Amino acid sequence: MSTLIIKDLHVSVETEQGTKPILNGVDLTVASGETHAIMGPNGSGKSTLAYTIAGHPKYHVESGSITLDGQDILAMSVDERARAGLFLAMQYPVEIPGVTVTNFLRTAKTAVDGEAPPIRAWLKDLRGSMANLRMDKSFAERNVNEGFSGGEKKRHEILQLELLKPHFAVLDETDSGLDVDALKIVSEGVNRAKDTTGMGLLLITHYTRILRYIKPDFVHVFVDGRVAEEGGPELADRLENEGYDRFLADTNVG
Ligand code: ADP
Ligand code: MG
Ligand code: MG
Repeated sequence: MSTLIIKDLHVSVETEQGTKPILNGVDLTVASGETHAIMGPNGSGKSTLAYTIAGHPKYHVESGSITLDGQDILAMSVDERARAGLFLAMQYPVEIPGVTVTNFLRTAKTAVDGEAPPIRAWLKDLRGSMANLRMDKSFAERNVNEGFSGGEKKRHEILQLELLKPHFAVLDETDSGLDVDALKIVSEGVNRAKDTTGMGLLLITHYTRILRYIKPDFVHVFVDGRVAEEGGPELADRLENEGYDRFLADTNVG
């Protein structure tokens, strides 16, 4: 049992116009085994939260804390965060010239576990996970992100999730750019990883569509860089029907 606690988190970025505050006091607690959906309008700071947890250098923590079982995540390097059990897919958004998917995944697994996985068992796991995600074998020999379609990037992300077996995963807009068939396959992959690892999941999404396949235990609505409302799965149903207008109207009045 493991707990990720985010307390009164304030985060800014440097822009040409100066320091821009983006997160304005985020409070969130995720225990292993729980799925939390982070929803909210565009520009409300959802991706900023994901990048901050991942340790992206562009995002400056002004105050507040992120701890994993009491350990200070913000004091850790990106690699240390991965070793502590956080899944950081967004750490690798770029092409890695000359590095194949196979080598990338094995290197990542070795970094996370602190030792290289035995080769036969590893290849078996890799092939099994790729088959689960209906990925062609040839995908393993391609260079990371080179010419990947949107759907291939998402499958590669879930392939990492299945193989690295983190304690906590943050998935940002995993549903974007996927057709229904791909969304089902990717969601099954996430659910499988949840079932086998008992991980905690922060599922960031603008739309409710993915929540039909990955059931959240809690829903948090982000507005203006903080949690404006939270509830159970019924809150997602309400957002599906009403959209975010109610929250945006509140913002304008304030
Ligand atoms: P969301 O994921 O909810 O759409 P983001 O976290 O991407 O929101 O963005 C929140 C706000 O912060 C937006 O106004 C966005 O333009 C701004 N922002 C995010 N990242 C940067 C950045 N690197 N430089 C400048 N502004 C940024
Ligand atoms: Mg955005
Ligand atoms: Mg975003």
